[in-house]
Amino acid sequence: MHEFSFAYNIFKVAEATAIKYNAKKISEVYLEIGELTLIVPDLLKQSFKMATHGSIAEGAELVIEILPGKIQCRDCGKISTVTLSEESYLTGLQLFQCRHCESKNTEIIEGKKANVKNIKIQE
Ligand SMILES: [Zn+2]
Repeated sequence: MHEFSFAYNIFKVAEATAIKYNAKKISEVYLEIGELTLIVPDLLKQSFKMATHGSIAEGAELVIEILPGKIQCRDCGKISTVTLSEESYLTGLQLFQCRHCESKNTEIIEGKKANVKNIKIQE
């Protein structure tokens, strides 16, 4: 499951930060997720609950901010914002069209990354 391994990685990053600051508990974790990562926020929240069970991050709230995907056209060089269709979630296929010249010769430049932006801890 895509979300579970991702949730576990988030937990490890948050835990390492908390340990560095001698925190007893992590209360909130702020995330930025690119829309094109295909991560489903609800599934991620459930997975995060499982991944943090019994740890210092147990009960921590996951605050997720979704960043839109961006593509650059190889033909006209312009940048378009893209969103995923439901089929993309089902098939994992991501084919994007330039909004300026309708070329399909495009490259994803943003929206594929996810990272922990901040955490809230209790000392
Ligand atoms: Zn174009």
